[in-house]
Amino acid sequence: MWDLQKQTREIKNKTVQLCWEWNNFSSDYSKANGVYPKDKDILDYTLSGYINSRLKTGFDLNSGNLSTSLMQTCKTFNKSKKEIIKGERSINSYKADQPIDLHDKSIKLEYKNNEFYVRLSLLNKAGMKKYNINSGFYFKMIVKDNSTKTILERCIDIDEYKIRASKLLYDKKKRLWKLNLCYDFENHSVSNLDVDKILGIDVGIHCPMVASVAGDYDRFTINGGEIETFRKRIEARKRSVLKQTKFCGDGRMGHGRKKRTEPALKISDKIARFRDTANHKYSRALIEYAVRKGCGTIQMERLTGITADSNHFLKQWSYYDLQTKIENKANEAGIKVVYIEPEFTSQRCSKCGYIHKDNRPAQAKFRCQNCGFEANADYNASQNIGIKNIDKIIAKELKISGANPK
Ligand SMILES: [Zn+2]
Repeated sequence: MWDLQKQTREIKNKTVQLCWEWNNFSSDYSKANGVYPKDKDILDYTLSGYINSRLKTGFDLNSGNLSTSLMQTCKTFNKSKKEIIKGERSINSYKADQPIDLHDKSIKLEYKNNEFYVRLSLLNKAGMKKYNINSGFYFKMIVKDNSTKTILERCIDIDEYKIRASKLLYDKKKRLWKLNLCYDFENHSVSNLDVDKILGIDVGIHCPMVASVAGDYDRFTINGGEIETFRKRIEARKRSVLKQTKFCGDGRMGHGRKKRTEPALKISDKIARFRDTANHKYSRALIEYAVRKGCGTIQMERLTGITADSNHFLKQWSYYDLQTKIENKANEAGIKVVYIEPEFTSQRCSKCGYIHKDNRPAQAKFRCQNCGFEANADYNASQNIGIKNIDKIIAKELKISGANPK
């Protein structure tokens, strides 16, 4: 595998070189003749076909994978060509940690006895002879969470997801090869979704998430308490582990600090994994709610800069992760995602539009100073967020009233 990694790097660097040479030739030619040369006329091939014909021998890489590396390198070169010529950036040079490119046809997934396996074609005929390997490389896959499992199942069922060109990467820290599997799918758009029916989602401080359709009293709520409970429980355990390590005679003494603090580190991994699973669950439930309500669009607040305050950072990171998962699942369901500017959505009365900071007598409570409308503050915010072009509407309302609610 490391040999193949080296060869991939070599292919990419040679490809760049040939692209560059052709580029120089082509510009000289145009200066002399007033027109750019056609690659087919001069090379007998397209440029990438020509490079392929030059590079196909002397390597052990499966030809599909080799041409995937080559095509992608050409594409990258063409994208940055203008900047390279202007001297704004240098020509790409590919380093030793190159991922091995995989053509979609080089990947076969299998499911046997509750385990996932992948068969990869990595070698060409010469390579198979050289390494004395005559079938593909067969790996058992480590699948950690249910959503990956679902994706793999859908990839195996070829009518659902289609595998695309992917990569094999070597993770030096974990000393593991990782398969970065790419796939695509048709939108399973649910036909009775109405693009103009919008679900507004508020990611609050008290409730992590409240979603509702404008004008609808019904709402979808996640209080997220389970993550907090889990975090507290686990951190209490972490503190006790760290405390233990201060005393001599502890079972973990004498192995150096790294070894001693290992359990504490694993705990933070645990919290992250728990949060990941929880966010998958929340986002799935939310999308199911949107589909049930017939919403073809969801609107969320665009998260603004992440603060340095570590407590906040974790929270915001978690929201960001939740938003990403919602967005992915919405795309899959054919639901449009619109981000709005969050300013004043929590101070605006969703019934009459009056904006004032006094509308929030307490964090969790909303009471309109103009019309007397009372509601849970996060619910009121979600009502606002679910209004089409709400940021523009708020800007207009503020201009008219001339008020500065801040
Ligand atoms: Zn009001």
